[in-house]
Amino acid sequence: MIAVLGSGESGVGAALLAKKKGFEVFVSDFGEIKECYQKELIEMDVNWEQGKHSEAKILAATMLIKSPGIPETILLKKVRAKGIEVLSEIEFASRFCIGKIIAITGSNGKTTTATLIHYLLKVAGQDVALAGNIGDSFARCLAKSDHAFWVLELSSFQLDDINQFKPHIAVVLNLTPDHLDRYQGEMANYVAAKMRIAENQDPNDYFIYWNDDVWIKKNLSLVKSVKLPFGVRTTGDGASLQKDTFEININTEQLTMTIHELALQGKHNTYNSMAGGIAAKLLGITNDIVRECLSDFEKIEHRLEPVLNVYGVEYINDSKATNINATWYALDSISKSVVWICGGVDKGNNYEALLPLVSKKVKAIICLGTDNSKLLKMFGGIVENIEEASSMKDAVKIAYKHAHKGDAVLLSPACASFDLFSSYEDRGRQFKKQIRLL
Ligand code: ADP
Repeated sequence: MIAVLGSGESGVGAALLAKKKGFEVFVSDFGEIKECYQKELIEMDVNWEQGKHSEAKILAATMLIKSPGIPETILLKKVRAKGIEVLSEIEFASRFCIGKIIAITGSNGKTTTATLIHYLLKVAGQDVALAGNIGDSFARCLAKSDHAFWVLELSSFQLDDINQFKPHIAVVLNLTPDHLDRYQGEMANYVAAKMRIAENQDPNDYFIYWNDDVWIKKNLSLVKSVKLPFGVRTTGDGASLQKDTFEININTEQLTMTIHELALQGKHNTYNSMAGGIAAKLLGITNDIVRECLSDFEKIEHRLEPVLNVYGVEYINDSKATNINATWYALDSISKSVVWICGGVDKGNNYEALLPLVSKKVKAIICLGTDNSKLLKMFGGIVENIEEASSMKDAVKIAYKHAHKGDAVLLSPACASFDLFSSYEDRGRQFKKQIRLL
């Protein structure tokens, strides 16, 4: 019997796949299971429970699939001590997958880059699916059918508890502090979790990485696959940026583009495009298709998404910026004077990295959170206009008051959304709604 701990998208996906492969399955969730998932479990005739973990039943399993984000509890320790194999949903699914896996991780840019690589393969006419931390779980998609290519967006939590997972192409975009609360406050632990993406690769596989990232570079000696860097002035195969032009070199092929041709603007997006371009060239996609896709790829909602121009003021929704690094790139990419809406649930932020950009570009700050003390302390003496808001309606109203023709109003919170909103999507949508009402 396979026990599945946690019954969100990953857990239900894993249960579906396990059932399809003929296993007896028991799903256990300590919290409340969403109604739609309960319905699915009933439909597939799986045993399940909520609001508790029945220890005896779980300890009777031969294998345990753990949903990402479930902490190492006493029960899990008992499971491991008993010798029951503990796997993540990604590990479990990969054991049934014949298609080639392209796996993307990093602190920021995963969704953008995974969606871009999926788009490149689609336009090239390949049989490809996009799954993981985006949309449906890998296991759920695989239960429907296998594909020639799988583009998987993976968080560090999804890489915990893998042991044979072996992507043909692994991409590590960047490693900056995030979720450190889950890694004993240690950056090294978080980095180690992310670098596991490459731990089972061999010299027939590829590792695409940002060459200017100190944490990735520190860990490169662990990587056994072919290393393909992207960044400012790299040499050999990979992608190299010089001023406004980048060059992708794979084997003897070369593709040159300028950053002005790219659909995704901003330094960070140039790197995402370079990483996507390397993956595409490795997979044999022609220069013409790569050039076309990098030039016409559509922006994704909540990621530096232009919303409207109201009386000459540009409104930009970057609600997905839930850490300092993402917000740094948002501020960096805007050349106008900025009215900045920020704040929310702070995951241990150090705002100092933003000081130079804020003092140079930001004319007003609106702190939108239940506790804004850190923001007020850090930027109070730097920016003349700093106000607090407790709803998106108020925040947009205040922003409107400070913004003049030629300015930009940027929602890029650098924080999670759960104090005032149900998700970053909810926060972004409320922002867009309030702008339309202006
Ligand atoms: P993820 O899936 O890793 O959260 P997204 O593509 O959803 O990444 O983008 C999240 C936030 O990070 C957005 O604010 C986006 O503008 C920003 N971002 C995207 N790519 C990068 C990058 N390479 N480096 C830093 N920030 C990035």
